Amino acid sequence: MNIRNWLQKAIITLHHSDSPKLDAQTILSFAMGKSIAWLYAFDEIIINDDKLIFLDELLIRRFNGEPLAYVIGQCEFWSLTLKVICDTMIPRYDTEIIVEQSLNYLSKPSLKILDLGTGTGAIALSIASERPQCKVFGIDCISTVVKNAQYNAVNLNISNATFFLSYWFNNIPQNKFDLIVSNPPYIEVNSPYLKLGDVRFEPTSALVSDENGLSDLKAIIKNSFHWLTYDGWLLLEHGWKQGKAVRNIMQQYGYRKISTIKDYGGNPRVTLGKAPT
Ligand code: GLN
Repeated sequence: MNIRNWLQKAIITLHHSDSPKLDAQTILSFAMGKSIAWLYAFDEIIINDDKLIFLDELLIRRFNGEPLAYVIGQCEFWSLTLKVICDTMIPRYDTEIIVEQSLNYLSKPSLKILDLGTGTGAIALSIASERPQCKVFGIDCISTVVKNAQYNAVNLNISNATFFLSYWFNNIPQNKFDLIVSNPPYIEVNSPYLKLGDVRFEPTSALVSDENGLSDLKAIIKNSFHWLTYDGWLLLEHGWKQGKAVRNIMQQYGYRKISTIKDYGGNPRVTLGKAPT
């Protein structure tokens, strides 16, 4: 079977996907170690049997609904290619908003940034790559996830990001940060959304939080002010219906200059505030 024939077969197999052609091309490009342009230029090339078995395994996983990022073990975020493992959530495009916002508050060099629940390291590594003079720390409560984030830092040659194991603040060395950022779990336990599409394959620990999804957001808001400098900022991603609740909690703990920013889809997504005095 040549490249063209496999692509045709794969596109038909994946017709239930939102993007059958792109999925098929991405799987083929990954398995062959070639660009999509190359695949077009050399579509007469015969795929050897071993490769064919591997390709068909990946195709079946995608056919069964597994997210493409898990099938090929990587995804794109900001300008970075990140290794993704099944213990991490897949970084979302909308999370780039919190990176963009963070960068607005990082105008001075050598600031310290803390990313809570770093997962693949997406937020921490994006900030670190844009602000090479800042020191970025990322924590996660799962050791395989921390190792994966460390791998991503090394693989991307980003030396100003450090990752370690901590459950929120419980293992963070005494320190003050100029900015704390987090995309914590914030989906309600019984949300019907959890039974749909890609999220079915993602770790519940990264998605779901008690108290209508607000429990981890609350814990972070409550504790962050011990760890922020006087001029420090806290930036939190949350569900599109949680903006008001998050602003209220921040207010309750004395944060200043609280505001909520919308994502690219126009939904309230990030709330930020300056450290309480
Ligand atoms: N934004 C994610 C989603 O839509 C959820 C992220 C989270 O819970 N931190 O699936």
